[in-house]
Amino acid sequence: MTDIKSMLPEELSAFVAELGQPKYRADQIFKWLHAVGTDFDGMTDLPKAFRDKLGENCFIPDVTVAAKQVSKIDGTVKYLFKLYDGEYIESVFMRYHHGNTLCISTQAGCRMGCKFCASTLNGLKRNLLPAEMISQIQDAQKDTGERVTGVVLMGMGEPLDNYDNVLKFLRLVNHPKGLNIGHRHISLSTCGLVDNIRRLAEEKMQITLSVSLHAPNDELRKSIMPIANKYTVSQLLEACRDYEKITGRRTSFEYALISGVTDTKELATELGKKLKGSLCHVNLIPINEIKERSYVGASRAAADAFVKVLSTFGITATVRRKLGSDISAACGQLRDEHESLVEQ
Ligand code: SAH
Repeated sequence: MTDIKSMLPEELSAFVAELGQPKYRADQIFKWLHAVGTDFDGMTDLPKAFRDKLGENCFIPDVTVAAKQVSKIDGTVKYLFKLYDGEYIESVFMRYHHGNTLCISTQAGCRMGCKFCASTLNGLKRNLLPAEMISQIQDAQKDTGERVTGVVLMGMGEPLDNYDNVLKFLRLVNHPKGLNIGHRHISLSTCGLVDNIRRLAEEKMQITLSVSLHAPNDELRKSIMPIANKYTVSQLLEACRDYEKITGRRTSFEYALISGVTDTKELATELGKKLKGSLCHVNLIPINEIKERSYVGASRAAADAFVKVLSTFGITATVRRKLGSDISAACGQLRDEHESLVEQ
């Protein structure tokens, strides 16, 4: 069975021609799959016999809402989606002044092994298909009745560990005949797969690169992020500078504030020195505590002090506003709760 929804328009054209249909059918199908979000039965301007043929040869790997939580504080919605093969992933719908942002997953599980993250506790299950990334956006739009204007690839998984499918997703989501979400409204967050950051830069898309740095030196970074054994902080920062040069986009860094581990003034000074002179922005995230780990989030005072030190190096930093703090907000938490319910 062919995953028809993950096809780029040119692939769809070739596929339709193979089935002996005129090329304009590809346009029709693309619109139904991406702009409308329907299955073969809903494609009312296609002949019934052709719809049946599509149904026999193709499948649409849409996600379905398995559970959802709505924050009473700020209306943030967290979705648990079930995939066609029974795996689960999460997305989070957030309302900001400038529009609605959906945080989507790119893998079921993750194999990066970051010590503070719930998504990686049971390893990688599988890569998501491009269509499964598109479908998270469509379902959130349908459920909320509101348009998603921005997307962050910051849910479960490491986007650059699923490079080809993520790249295809970025092409599909941006398509004027599909969801038509501009690349400038999309951020891709990575724990720092340097080789693939370089590949992405060469695509020359206007995606914002968000790098999960979390520590200013190799020793500390290695103790919380296994990827630091493969690439050094200086290799990573160099790749970010090159990404900026090639795309003209300012990098943003995420820095998780773990009490007593990453949130000291000395580390802020070390980070300030390393980032000095770059146009980057730093997002400080007091860590969400997960029950499997003993890490504790930094206090507001420690976070504010960290911002102050960075500002002396000319680096702008903000402490991330916590949306949905009442609804298992940390990555992977909702899925873990769900799985433990299923196991019981
Ligand atoms: N794999 C990618 C994207 C998914 S994680 C990456 O590493 O960037 C999205 C962000 O959430 C990352 O910055 C990640 O480090 C952070 N994160 C993971 N667990 C967290 C937790 N318990 N509290 C706060 N942030 C967390």
